[in-house]
Amino acid sequence: MSALDLVIRARRVVRADGEQPAAVGVRDGRIVAISPYDAELDAATELRLGDDEVLLPGLVDSHVHVNDPGRTDWEGFTSATKAAAAGGVTTIVDMPLNSIPPTCDVPALTLKRKTAETQSYVDVGFWGGAIPGNVPDLRPLHDAGVFGYKCFLLHSGVDEFPPLDADQLEAAMRELSTFDGVLIVHAEDAHRIDEATAPNGASYDAFLNSRPRVAENEAVAHVIDLARETGCRVHILHVSSADTLPLLTQARNDGVRISAETCPHYLSFTAEDIPDGATQYKCCPPIREAANRELLWEGLRDGTIDQVVSDHSPSTIDLKHLDTGDFGTAWGGIASLQLGLPAVWTEARRRGFTLSDVVRWMAAAPAAQTGLATKGGIEVGYDADFCVLAPDKTFTVDAQQLQHKNAITPYDGRTLTGVVRSTWLRGEPVDIAADPRGRLLTRGER
Ligand SMILES: [Zn+2]
Repeated sequence: MSALDLVIRARRVVRADGEQPAAVGVRDGRIVAISPYDAELDAATELRLGDDEVLLPGLVDSHVHVNDPGRTDWEGFTSATKAAAAGGVTTIVDMPLNSIPPTCDVPALTLKRKTAETQSYVDVGFWGGAIPGNVPDLRPLHDAGVFGYKCFLLHSGVDEFPPLDADQLEAAMRELSTFDGVLIVHAEDAHRIDEATAPNGASYDAFLNSRPRVAENEAVAHVIDLARETGCRVHILHVSSADTLPLLTQARNDGVRISAETCPHYLSFTAEDIPDGATQYKCCPPIREAANRELLWEGLRDGTIDQVVSDHSPSTIDLKHLDTGDFGTAWGGIASLQLGLPAVWTEARRRGFTLSDVVRWMAAAPAAQTGLATKGGIEVGYDADFCVLAPDKTFTVDAQQLQHKNAITPYDGRTLTGVVRSTWLRGEPVDIAADPRGRLLTRGER
């Protein structure tokens, strides 16, 4: 074997199926060898991790709202991808909405790619959008490389990305099933939300009651019914109501092709502990009660939920209306891209999970679902994307020190376990003070 560019020796190399000591050899940005820890390997650069460090694959966060172009005061590719890199995330997939234009046709995708091209510190892929009237755009977006299509079943929060009604949803799914596209769904039912009591000022309870579980449960059931009928692959975004878990299990058992994610905030926080007026916690669907949170963890344990991704959905701080604390008018979205790994690890280890579990939820499964065949694992032939983590070190979150654009997050002041020491993209450390090296990804590339 000719000389390697890099070898990383770690006492704990973590993969989805377990961990062991190993020497990981890299050439031309790819992993080419996984050898015993002390193997003699000829490499231009050698890194030996500290005894307090583990080597993880770079994480894949398939749910990120970068909002660029169009709402770059909310976020942007430079700040978002720096935050990703600082948090051990080496691949993000950008959501089609909150940017202007939303990614609902090929010209919008082209514009987004052009915007991201020169700004990205990690690799970036793109979701398309399914909105009323754009069925003819779905196949061209597929051919242009989007990973799938997001839709809403109720108002999305921005007027330029309207929801699908029942007929439009079915039409989109029929179209996607002709080329095996995947529909990723914000599952809350508009009618059930309309029927619920409106949010009332700073009261978190009133906000929670305004987004009842039944809205989520019925939307998931409806999507499952249509997936059964059309054969369309579906993915349920940000599962918050644990009542949906038996529906997901049943659908899978029946052969419906369905996957599901939840987010670090649903696994970390509880409604009981959210102070009134604390709109940094506002997201939709909402953070629910402690008992519900434990059921989400059980859903991860038994595989009903297969992924944990951030749903990083920032806005400017003024739109969070912290002055009034009004949950009705505040932007619904939580900023957490840099913190997903320590947030999840902090709570996971308390419940007896391992770093292999975290790697499965936050790297392997999102990579598999998006068809990124060389991402999300430490395997020969994969991209040499790594996160060096000190899993027993703690730190206290200071929103001002985070890389995302607007210094607000519900994790501010919280002590988390797991410090990201470095992040590696295709065999080189990511340096957020240097020029960006991220690539734009298209569906199906290897
Ligand atoms: Zn989202």
